[in-house]
Amino acid sequence: MPDHPSLREALRVKPGSRVRLARVDPGATFGHGKKQAEKELAEGLVRLHDLQERLWAEQKHKVLVVIQGIDAAGKGGTLEHVMGAFNPAGCPVTSFKVPSEEERAHDYLWRVHRRTPATGEIAVFDRSHYEDVLVVRVHDLVPSTVWSRRYDQINAFERLLVEEGTTIVKFFLYIDRDEQRARIQARYDDPTKRWKFRLGDLDERKHWDDYIAAFQDALSRCSTDQGPWYVIPANRKWFRNLAVAEILGDVLAELDPQYPVPEDLPEDLVIT
Ligand code: AMP
Ligand code: MG
Repeated sequence: MPDHPSLREALRVKPGSRVRLARVDPGATFGHGKKQAEKELAEGLVRLHDLQERLWAEQKHKVLVVIQGIDAAGKGGTLEHVMGAFNPAGCPVTSFKVPSEEERAHDYLWRVHRRTPATGEIAVFDRSHYEDVLVVRVHDLVPSTVWSRRYDQINAFERLLVEEGTTIVKFFLYIDRDEQRARIQARYDDPTKRWKFRLGDLDERKHWDDYIAAFQDALSRCSTDQGPWYVIPANRKWFRNLAVAEILGDVLAELDPQYPVPEDLPEDLVIT
């Protein structure tokens, strides 16, 4: 088996560094090939399943996984094909939509904080509080004086979560504009995918450069030791899945979750 660099090292946004997405190849595979990757992914999913079960049994850690990406980057596919390895009992998923009236009447972290993981859980965010410095910024939904404060607020919020025992891992799925075009077209053309097609996505596509700028700032300002961002080259779905599964597996393995050994049980108990 060929030796590959650690994707966790290679794809992590170093805290304090300035992300320039133009320098990232969204088709990169880091020497992996599709055939072999499918086998590696299958193994990675078994590993994830085992780690999550231990984490749930141990009731010690909390893990928050954030998935972000431009429209059609593959957030849903990643959820399905990678987080699908987890037992849903311990893995609450939240898909953040346009805020409801009640949500809008509160600060932007209100709806987010209540979905963060409880002990033993791996909570997955499909979109997240980062929308409040992405779509909100691109569409001027609040004044720039308001959204520009949010990077520090988000870092403070994530620091709170980590200090209270949460492990945070954030994935940015990076596709290029042509890949997005092809995927949106495919959604339209395929009757089994057309339900995902929104005319509004075509308007969003016109804001591509603004989104890239907003993502670059979120990645640069909010990748911290406590809550690192990983930029996942996502033009190739098989590599995206492999990379997310490997990094997540490495993060969970580091927590080293163990099945608890119940004490005060008699030895050699035989149930009759
Ligand atoms: P989807 O993920 O395709 O189901 O779409 C969810 C929509 O909700 C996207 O268009 C997001 O931009 C939008 N959305 C999510 N969070 C926010 C937010 N905080 N403010 C405004 N729009 C949001
Ligand atoms: Mg969408």
